Amino acid sequence: MRIIIANWKMNLLSKDIDGFCAACVAEYKAKPGVEAGIAPPSIYLKDVKTKLGNCGVKVFAQNAYFEAKGAFTGEIAMAQLKDIGCDGVLLGHSERRHIFGETNAALVKKVKAAREHDLLPVLCIGETLAERDGGKMFEVLREQLAVLKETGPGALVVAYEPVWAIGTGRVATVEQVREVHAFVAEELKRLLGEAGAEVPIQYGGSVTPDNFSELIQVPHVSGGLVGGAALDPAKFLKLVQQAQ
Ligand code: PEP
Repeated sequence: MRIIIANWKMNLLSKDIDGFCAACVAEYKAKPGVEAGIAPPSIYLKDVKTKLGNCGVKVFAQNAYFEAKGAFTGEIAMAQLKDIGCDGVLLGHSERRHIFGETNAALVKKVKAAREHDLLPVLCIGETLAERDGGKMFEVLREQLAVLKETGPGALVVAYEPVWAIGTGRVATVEQVREVHAFVAEELKRLLGEAGAEVPIQYGGSVTPDNFSELIQVPHVSGGLVGGAALDPAKFLKLVQQAQ
């Protein structure tokens, strides 16, 4: 399966969302084997879900908490995401790891909680430039993927997003993507056995329609997690077409 997800991060307002969803409803044509999704700020999840109707574009949260319910001010439970019709949840995005201190230990619990509520977890991994330059890239990625040793197999997408390529306009080269995606595919098999071979591995980091047609051809690249370019519905829909 291939999957393209628009990560809006903390961008857009109601007026922008109307037009974005209307473009999806008018132009999105589902094709077998390729999923498309939007991850809006949580305050707009229900609105986006309603406006997309049954056009086939899925809705993802950008984060959620692992506890079932209770005194966790400011957090959202997986059950609440499911309750409003959410399809999945991004977990461990580099901005959550680096700005908000998300840990692998919390991610183990979040992946399990997402699965318990039938939400597709998208586990984001990626090295910083200092880690890559310091020869620590594979070690860091292995450690981030070790979350899956504790969760075991189940519904999953992995998004490889080199931190230095996110929002910088500096996309990884085809060779860099080839090398890391082959490594991630091997690790997934080592950790999850045959089930690991079925896990889609998205690339993320300054993806645009100009660079994506080449990246999507790279072995073990099965989609994209897209920030900046996916704030524009025409570009998002173009990326989906490229994956199809
Ligand atoms: C992202 O949001 O995960 C991302 C990769 O952002 P951008 O496409 O803007 O680099």
